Amino acid sequence: MSSSTGVWVLVELNEEKLQDGSLELVGHGHDIARKTGRELTAVVLNELSGDSVRQLARYGASCILCIQYPADIKHSAETDTQLLAAAVKQESPDIVLSLESIRSADIARRLAARLGIGLVTACDRLDIGEDNLLTAVKPIYGSKASATVICPVSRPQMATVNSDAIDLKTPDDSASAEVMTLQPDIVLEDPGTKAVDFLKGDPRLVALVDAEIVVAGGLGVGTGENWKLVEELADAIGGSVAASRRAVDEEWITSDRQIGLTGKTVRPRLYIACGISGAIQHTMGMKDAKAIIAINTDREAPIFKMADVGVVGDVLKVLPVLTAKLREALKDSPEPRADEVFNVLGNP
Ligand SMILES: Cc1cc2nc3c(=O)[nH]c(=O)nc-3n(C[C@H](O)[C@H](O)[C@H](O)COP(=O)(O)OP(=O)(O)OC[C@H]3O[C@@H](n4cnc5c(N)ncnc54)[C@H](O)[C@@H]3O)c2cc1C
Repeated sequence: MSSSTGVWVLVELNEEKLQDGSLELVGHGHDIARKTGRELTAVVLNELSGDSVRQLARYGASCILCIQYPADIKHSAETDTQLLAAAVKQESPDIVLSLESIRSADIARRLAARLGIGLVTACDRLDIGEDNLLTAVKPIYGSKASATVICPVSRPQMATVNSDAIDLKTPDDSASAEVMTLQPDIVLEDPGTKAVDFLKGDPRLVALVDAEIVVAGGLGVGTGENWKLVEELADAIGGSVAASRRAVDEEWITSDRQIGLTGKTVRPRLYIACGISGAIQHTMGMKDAKAIIAINTDREAPIFKMADVGVVGDVLKVLPVLTAKLREALKDSPEPRADEVFNVLGNP
């Protein structure tokens, strides 16, 4: 199966949907593959819907390799790793890339350890350098510096990529991909652990640094009673709730949810600022969000200078309308993605 060598992107599925960031990584992987003169293979541990196949092809996968899970075995990180390791040994890709999401990051580390190869984690940029080697650039020392790392010896070269660091490429609607299945010929080892159940956490309380969508409130929300409007919007779109320092000072929310200089730094795919002025001490913590929507009564508020969509209005009036509109628009999408939300909010 020669077409499955070259560059592999491990694609993560979230309840059969492509995980946010997968198409960005496939596009990025396609560029890397082209520079090495090889093809890009998207690798999934499952069957894929026709729509997902089309999407992966449009963003640059020439081949889609579906690794078959044994029928009677439940998905677990350890079993995923064993199957992927067997597939890598069988097909010998030159480069293996995956997202630095919670699940993919876990599997990537296990896979590298099982294969006895190097792994560059949490990269912001990838390229092909001298001798056709993958050069991986990653932030270090709290992003105050960056390191460029190569793996000259072990194969495959492997890296995980921060999903917020890569942009979606322009798709090629005429592209198609060959779909292949692989049943690794291995006897699975007992993983030593058993997944008993999967419990969904409350998305509003997801660790802020991992949140794809952040809904943040500021002093403009007005009262603790009004704060539920911020929470309701977050609930409608699977967002995580955060705040400016002034909202924390008012004790509408705990200080661990504060964004900014003396709070957390986030890089979500979508940041919705409700009644936040945009003081520099706040924006330092959210300026790298991929898309920003701001709601403020003051059209001169600094937050509008950085917003992709600005709504000049009273949060007490705007939030209930937006929440209702989003609940209706996304009712068939139990776990809305940031781009779906942005599309609704971006076309109010
Ligand atoms: C050393 C230092 C560290 C700091 N660290 C942080 C930090 O980590 N994080 C942080 O956030 N701040 C921090 N601050 C505070 C920061 O300077 C600002 O005071 C704070 O961010 C302002 O919060 P805010 O935007 O909620 O409030 P305000 O600046 O008071 O803005 C409220 C906004 O709401 C709008 N508004 C009012 N009513 C409505 C309504 N009904 N509907 C819609 N909009 C409305 C107003 O027009 C205004 O723009 C720090 C300050 C210092 C000095």
